Amino acid sequence: IQKSRFAPSPTGYLHLGNARTALFAWLAARHDGGHFLLRIEDTDRERSPQQYEDALLEDLRWLGLDWDEGPDCGGDFGPYRQMERLGIYGELYQRLLDAHLAYPCYCTPEMLAAEREAQRAAGRAPRYSGRCRELDAAARAELEALGRQPSLRFRVASTGRLRVDDLIWGEREYSLEDLGDFVIRRSDGSPAFFFANAVDDALMGVDLVLRGEDHLSNTPRQILILQALGMKAPTYGHLPLLLGSDGQPLSKRHGAASLRDLRAEGFLPEAVRNYLARLGHHYGEADGRLLTDEELRREFRLDAIGRAPAHFDLAQLEHWQAQAVQSSTTEQLAQWLAPVLDESLSPAERLAFVELIRPNIRFPAQARDWLQRFVRDPEPDEEALDVLRETPEAFWMVAAATFEAENGDWKDWVTALQEASGRRGRALFQPLRAALTGRLHGPELAGWCRLLGAERCRQRLSQAGR
Ligand code: GLU
Repeated sequence: IQKSRFAPSPTGYLHLGNARTALFAWLAARHDGGHFLLRIEDTDRERSPQQYEDALLEDLRWLGLDWDEGPDCGGDFGPYRQMERLGIYGELYQRLLDAHLAYPCYCTPEMLAAEREAQRAAGRAPRYSGRCRELDAAARAELEALGRQPSLRFRVASTGRLRVDDLIWGEREYSLEDLGDFVIRRSDGSPAFFFANAVDDALMGVDLVLRGEDHLSNTPRQILILQALGMKAPTYGHLPLLLGSDGQPLSKRHGAASLRDLRAEGFLPEAVRNYLARLGHHYGEADGRLLTDEELRREFRLDAIGRAPAHFDLAQLEHWQAQAVQSSTTEQLAQWLAPVLDESLSPAERLAFVELIRPNIRFPAQARDWLQRFVRDPEPDEEALDVLRETPEAFWMVAAATFEAENGDWKDWVTALQEASGRRGRALFQPLRAALTGRLHGPELAGWCRLLGAERCRQRLSQAGR
């Protein structure tokens, strides 16, 4: 692959299905040193505010993607926003008009709707009848005098077949007659998707297009346009849809629908990358473990993309999240948790604290909870409260006394407390945990005490006895 691309329409926050498409296209390019480009398909002007484009770039960067050409960094084949390329399209329209491969169509939306209705009623698949195909100059002038703004239609041969090879779906054949003449420039002058998308890929030197399965049926029309213009078509590969775990289109109901939702919930980009890269693609032997960025690229294989729809499963993503938390460096974790770690810890304490709670957290909210318990109040939860209620006051007196005697040294204290109280194992540690952390499960207790310091341990032990 020399060059692959992602060509989003910025009409909302990046959907997870599109995020996966972007990731696959990027992995395919980076697998063997190819270029990756980003093109903004903003021809739907009203629905493409700048805010969404900015969000899109930010989300792609968060996911770990980078690009060699794009709206922000430029490149040799720009501009990279379609609305800035209207002049380029205009010249190509003229070439098609001059070669009689395109013609103006004056049919109104109402006329076209009525036509489709009639065809459906007759049990035929709707397609343009060709009414404006052979209008002469006089007829055109007459319609224009009526104020009709023409669209531009591509003339498709009425016989013959077109063979299209898809990387994932293999070879498919289409009858040209079924395609019908289609619009390549809308009556408001803006380019139709088929057209701008196809010519931009060719002009930008893209040789691999990975995109959603919903575009599969657009491909023959796009290939016809490129053939007519004498341009080279890229290799197309259409990724099976990404569905929710119940087989319905992925939406917020499934826990998350956009990359932004996942970010907001505190997922790590490593986890999201590892999960998305496996939705409809397998890594063979390396499938079971968290892969580094470098491994994800190196092991990515286009022929390991399947045809079955992929199902998004939040529980699986959480599995990768746990792995990503385990394999992050202490500094990475501290940075990720920075928004919830307030100023109450010194920089050194922060790192120690993050290490301490690492096995017990998957999300920042959990870190926030442990921090509360650490710096403020180990407010006991239900289970912890039960244990505290069942523990006699005498135990706490012994605990406090041995703590003093051993100067708060964890090992010596525990040994002394075992002997003095006759308790060991759970019977010993559960009440201690309940008193010191407010929960029965959590970070390693010795480390917790050490970091908490003797003074606060003492306080908590004495409070527990009351
Ligand atoms: N703008 C189109 C979309 O977002 C691009 C399709 C393609 O990748 O070719 O669906």
